[in-house]
Amino acid sequence: MRTAVVVGGGLGGLAVSGALARSGWQVTVLERADRIRPERAAVVLWPNGVRALRALGLGAGLDAIATTLPDGGVRRPDGHWLVQPRPTPRERVPMVVHREDLHDALIAGLGERVELRTGVTVRTVRVAAGVRPAVGDGRHTYEADLVVAADGVDSVIRRQLAPSSEVVSSGCAAWRAVIPWYRAPSLTDPVGGEILGAGYRFVSASLGERGSSGASSRGGVYWMATAAGAARPEPPQTQLALLRRWFAGWPAPVDELLAATEPADLVQREIRELRPLPRAFGFPVGPGGVVLLGDAAHAMPPHLGQGACLAFEDAATLAALLRESTLPDAVVAYDRARRPRAAAVVRQTRRMSAVLRTRGRLALRARDAALGTITPRLLGTAATIAAQWHPPTPPDPSRRS
Ligand SMILES: Cc1cc2nc3c(=O)[nH]c(=O)nc-3n(C[C@H](O)[C@H](O)[C@H](O)COP(=O)(O)OP(=O)(O)OC[C@H]3O[C@@H](n4cnc5c(N)ncnc54)[C@H](O)[C@@H]3O)c2cc1C
Repeated sequence: MRTAVVVGGGLGGLAVSGALARSGWQVTVLERADRIRPERAAVVLWPNGVRALRALGLGAGLDAIATTLPDGGVRRPDGHWLVQPRPTPRERVPMVVHREDLHDALIAGLGERVELRTGVTVRTVRVAAGVRPAVGDGRHTYEADLVVAADGVDSVIRRQLAPSSEVVSSGCAAWRAVIPWYRAPSLTDPVGGEILGAGYRFVSASLGERGSSGASSRGGVYWMATAAGAARPEPPQTQLALLRRWFAGWPAPVDELLAATEPADLVQREIRELRPLPRAFGFPVGPGGVVLLGDAAHAMPPHLGQGACLAFEDAATLAALLRESTLPDAVVAYDRARRPRAAAVVRQTRRMSAVLRTRGRLALRARDAALGTITPRLLGTAATIAAQWHPPTPPDPSRRS
């Protein structure tokens, strides 16, 4: 039986572990934390992410926990529409899901061939000619046919295999919260959509009532705010007060959502990214290989909400290639398929970053003048890019010689 060690039990690591196990692999997940614990936030899944999860066999689980996200358009803080809400074809409607619900669904999909080992911090990776790859935590060595580095933006495996790729600040911080359904304000305006201001952005989405999309969904209202500058060192209560000041007077439902948020709901993150992207995402090693997956391979700012979606694409692609080819061939094919795709999405995200980071009066005037044309075009391009990806299809057996 083929064996894999997956380093990291985040969304990417769990998705790929389940997929490999369902294809007959014996998988060991090594997770640094004491337990597998997602952030108390939600994640928007664009059509490519949804397709990837369906390709991974998780479609039914997703339908039970995710809510569709109707197009809420894009406004400026003065209420002016940058992009009017439009009816979206069914196949292009994104979904939004509570991260805890998604983690539960991914864990439920692991099955018996996956061993989860928590409290294991991987420190080294062994890539030597003629032998299978291995990782170590200083006490044990874990050898396998395949090592998947799904250990996030600070990946120790990537640092060793692609040292020229550095983690840098994206110049902004993000705050997120899920207001539980029983505390969610009843809103006159529908939740949803995006508001873009000078260096500031606010996005909200309804997760529905508890259990509304399925018996196990947590429900609530999700919002995310980003602001140019560094993460704030103050306690959550002060951060919340700052957010309320920064976003005061923005169109509904911003005020109502910030008012209903409690300090303990707040999740703050400095936004970081990889520059440049690693030159390779796949490394054949002896008879096996090592691959980088998810943020370990292509951490990017969340402006297009594509990080987790790409991690699911990575997982679906890897699983499909491993079903069709030998392991070393699959590792090479994974690299060829995934690196250009991630680079294309990162390019769009960086263009969006530049628009969002604009500050200073003159630059702002120019940005505001351009926003009306640039942003709709950018968002349109981003949506197209998101929609473009389809899971690899198995070769047609009738065409085999
Ligand atoms: C503010 C914000 C909003 C976002 N919104 C969206 C969105 O709406 N849609 C979307 O698609 N994406 C979104 N993203 C991106 C998305 O969250 C990430 O791309 C995704 O979670 C990455 O998953 P991952 O499994 O690759 O990495 P992670 O989630 O970082 O998981 C890595 C795991 O590896 C473990 N680990 C790390 N080092 C080691 C080690 N040495 N040994 C063992 N274990 C280790 C960690 O503990 C962690 O559990 C957002 C990101 C941010 C910051």
